[in-house]
Amino acid sequence: MTKISNHLPTARLQALDAAHHMHPFTAGNDLARHGARVITQARGVWLTDSEGQRIIDGMSGLWCVNIGFGRKELADVAARQIEELCYYNTFFQTTHVPAIGLADKLAELAPGDLNHVFYANSGSEANDTNIRLVRHYWAMKGKPEKTVIISRWNGYHGSTMGGGSLGGMKGMHAQGGLPIPGIVHIDQPDWYAEGGDLSPEEFGLERARQLEAKIAELGAGKVAAFIAEPIQGAGGVIIPPESYWPEIQRICDAHEILLIADEVITGFGRTGHWFGSQRYAIRPHIMTIAKGLSSGYVPIGGSLVCDEVAGVIAEGEFAHGYTYSGHPVAAAVALENLRIIEEENIVGHVHDVAGPYLAAKWAQLADHPLVGEARIEGLMASIALTPDKAARARFASDPGTVGYRCRERCFANNLVMRHVGDRMIIAPPLVITPAEIDILMERAVQSLDETLAELKADGLMVAG
Ligand SMILES: *Cc1c(COP(=O)(O)O)cnc(C)c1O
Repeated sequence: MTKISNHLPTARLQALDAAHHMHPFTAGNDLARHGARVITQARGVWLTDSEGQRIIDGMSGLWCVNIGFGRKELADVAARQIEELCYYNTFFQTTHVPAIGLADKLAELAPGDLNHVFYANSGSEANDTNIRLVRHYWAMKGKPEKTVIISRWNGYHGSTMGGGSLGGMKGMHAQGGLPIPGIVHIDQPDWYAEGGDLSPEEFGLERARQLEAKIAELGAGKVAAFIAEPIQGAGGVIIPPESYWPEIQRICDAHEILLIADEVITGFGRTGHWFGSQRYAIRPHIMTIAKGLSSGYVPIGGSLVCDEVAGVIAEGEFAHGYTYSGHPVAAAVALENLRIIEEENIVGHVHDVAGPYLAAKWAQLADHPLVGEARIEGLMASIALTPDKAARARFASDPGTVGYRCRERCFANNLVMRHVGDRMIIAPPLVITPAEIDILMERAVQSLDETLAELKADGLMVAG
């Protein structure tokens, strides 16, 4: 074993990484050819790599570092908790203070009567819990036939067998036998790509009514739940038309379908509200949380559950749980993270300062010759790249070819902006300042200019 340190040359670290580290969602051989960028440190919204470059992180790590990098308070809480009680389980009639404290705080913050939490270690695990939870709930209610969960194409709900099945990523379904039985998908409310000649509001209603049609097709007696992200994150920051969520809510109410809001990204301030459900007046029975819950400092996730569902589940033993459900170190760090979000009014900063400031600049991107639409809600934003704005056209090249090139230009300009197909997306740490937004936007525009020049030079500004 080689002793790994930041003082090894970058090339050596990259070679070791390529030799032994299998990266998620990555073509390994392709990465090995050019080597992974080695991130060594981070503060606020700034990353430092092994070459000493300072990079502005437009993605909050992976949608998670809401309070920004390097907050010492969280390190101190973790150290104290490890010394005091590093671990204890919550299976066998025992509990501990961090799990209690966090549950109490979450019940206070969550909307409606989401007063109960079942802890997991990630968003994927929490969604696996949700599958079993909703089916078991209906079985306890004497309706064991209500098992089917309706989800959406291009939604993202994690990468376990359950999470990947709920998700509507066809590339994921193609590997390893997904989806598992009892999960069906309807279309997403992506007006830009799929709305055709309808107005966004007409299209939002049409897509919501696919849920009602699917329920009718299956029979409401067979359907347990509908799950969706208030705003699709990994699908490309797809912000639904305003007509969409009220209609979804009406349909779930009318047909006795449990509504699961997957707030793994939209929770904890991302939209300028504590939860995306508040932004869209959604009344979920269950809410999936992870990512911003701990700002990514330690892994933790969970399901927030309403009084009715939790009450029924409590009538017997729910034969389900994880060794690390409610891990004391993770719970303590999450609680400290929530304290910081609350005391520093970070949700207000997104709503009143950073969100509107970025929104004004982001909207101007729509004038760029490469950009078909620019959308933003709170601090999650996307642009669709296009060879022909008026036609909302796709590129003739394979989907993602242009997006990947743009991502590479951003990376070269020390900006992390992600691509999903030929959409570019950002979700910076919620503490980003207007001055930092200026830098982010400068680098984004420069990267778009360079991408456009490259596409023209290579004959790729062609609609397909
Ligand atoms: C990231 C994500 C998940 C999965 O969370 P993991 O912690 O990666 O398992 C689930 N749902 C949504 C909406 C996500 O963005």
